[in-house]
Amino acid sequence: MNSDIILETREIVKKFGGIVALNNVNIEIEKGKITGLIGPNGAGKSTLLNVISGFLKPDHGSVVFKGRDVTGWLPHRICSLGLARTFQIVKPFLNFTVEESLLIGTLKKRSGSEAQELIDHVLEYFELDELRSKRCKELNVTQLKRLELARAMTTEPELLLLDEPGAGLNPSEASKFMKMIREINRKKKITILIIEHVMPIIMGLCENVYVLHYGEIIAKGCPRSVCKNKQVINAYLGEKW
Ligand code: ADP
Ligand code: MG
Repeated sequence: MNSDIILETREIVKKFGGIVALNNVNIEIEKGKITGLIGPNGAGKSTLLNVISGFLKPDHGSVVFKGRDVTGWLPHRICSLGLARTFQIVKPFLNFTVEESLLIGTLKKRSGSEAQELIDHVLEYFELDELRSKRCKELNVTQLKRLELARAMTTEPELLLLDEPGAGLNPSEASKFMKMIREINRKKKITILIIEHVMPIIMGLCENVYVLHYGEIIAKGCPRSVCKNKQVINAYLGEKW
């Protein structure tokens, strides 16, 4: 495997009963870059993230992360190797405080004052400092989205998978959130795979884009070339792009 490739999927197939959610999906994620994953609802985007992060087992094919075949590994084990994710629908621990829910992520790799230092840094970085003692059920959507990202960061990932991080946010909140994501990539040198529907966001963030349609990759490349692709226009973008 090329050492610039941090993650690769090989011929992934995932079926749910009669539905073929992923049909022979091959993607490669370049280290240090932001890669986009787009496509219509039901295309298989979240399923692919679930397979990569170990939440679903593929029926066929393999996932190679940092040169190791991690197919079938449990999520926490893949996470320990340096892969973190956020969910399309946020999954907070409702009765935990913000600080407690961040502690869980750090404990795998750090303890005591080291863990606390990391949590303090992440709380400040994601502007959650003043909310540290609040219970998660008291947070609004924007705060929960920031917490979700913060929680992923406490595991100190090398690769971060984001499933529609902007969903549910208004345009100005979404744009601020995307700035945070770009900063995580640039300053903390974390590779990112992002699912997102808002095309200007994809255009602004990503160096590479994959397009899924009915479980198949129908195009890949830089955002500009993908936007000009006839099949992508017909399947997903429409003529306005
Ligand atoms: P996307 O994230 O691109 O909108 P999904 O990956 O959520 O698409 O879904 C792909 C297809 O797989 C859809 O037809 C969806 O209904 C189906 N699907 C996803 N998850 C499950 C599941 N747990 N059980 C049954 N069908 C599922
Ligand atoms: Mg989805």
